[in-house]
Amino acid sequence: MADEVSTDEAVHERYIAPDEVDTDEEATDEANEALLNAARDGSVDGIKAALKAGADINFKPGFKREEDGWVHHIAHIGPALYTAAIRGHVAVVSLLLREGASVVQRTSSMAPLHIAAMKGFTEIVDLLVQHGATVDVRDGWLYTPLMYACDAKSADTVRRLIELGARTDYLEDYLAKGTGKVTDGHKECLKLIEEAKKTKLLRCCNPKCGKPGDGSTLELCGKCKLTRYCSRDCQEQHWSVGHKKCCGHDVYNDEEETDPLQQLVSLMTNHIRHFGSESLEALSAVLPSAPQ
Ligand SMILES: [Zn+2]
Ligand SMILES: [Zn+2]
Repeated sequence: MADEVSTDEAVHERYIAPDEVDTDEEATDEANEALLNAARDGSVDGIKAALKAGADINFKPGFKREEDGWVHHIAHIGPALYTAAIRGHVAVVSLLLREGASVVQRTSSMAPLHIAAMKGFTEIVDLLVQHGATVDVRDGWLYTPLMYACDAKSADTVRRLIELGARTDYLEDYLAKGTGKVTDGHKECLKLIEEAKKTKLLRCCNPKCGKPGDGSTLELCGKCKLTRYCSRDCQEQHWSVGHKKCCGHDVYNDEEETDPLQQLVSLMTNHIRHFGSESLEALSAVLPSAPQ
């Protein structure tokens, strides 16, 4: 784009509000919101400006009680990595990961890897795993990223997740339940999964290695008993690229979530999964309205 001006100043003005802020706390709030907006827009420069202005890279929007009631950054429900991942902004995801964004932080029980797999964004799936995300992480519905990629009919993502070591034997229940309407897209994904299941192949979870093996040649991480490695070197390498931060965070614990916004998002997601999004309209017609 030739006419795009992205001088530092223009970016700063666009993402860091020009109004004056009175306190350090307000300045941090501004920077955090700027970070989320830049993640939404896919602006690498905006992310850089927000971080420079003191944004917390893992800032997660939530309700906050202030003197005049509850306030909320209403345009966002998750941290910057969630927002960029759900929109497929590869360059922003890459920058956020390099700057240390958490790959275990959940939004509505889902880790960033669930989100990327659900959208079929293979490049983002890859980046997250290269930064240590556990391929078979479970969300509040016990779904793994591979199940989401299959739901999304993204054969490309399914293939990559299997290459990255995703366990296909975890999908027994998922496959038994069926995936609703089986379309051609599903068929291709299911074929890949069936093929992988037949070979009973496991892979070294160091994404730089991925060497195939089985239960006797690959050794489990002693702590989480979920990741497997072909050698001590691979285990150490994976630990340092990010497994250190992911180990032990592979199962979602909803008791950790205390923010009312996040609890609401979880409930709504659950509701939509069971009844479809059309049911929300019916629901809003029968809910009492707020007192004036
Ligand atoms: Zn290895
Ligand atoms: Zn581990």
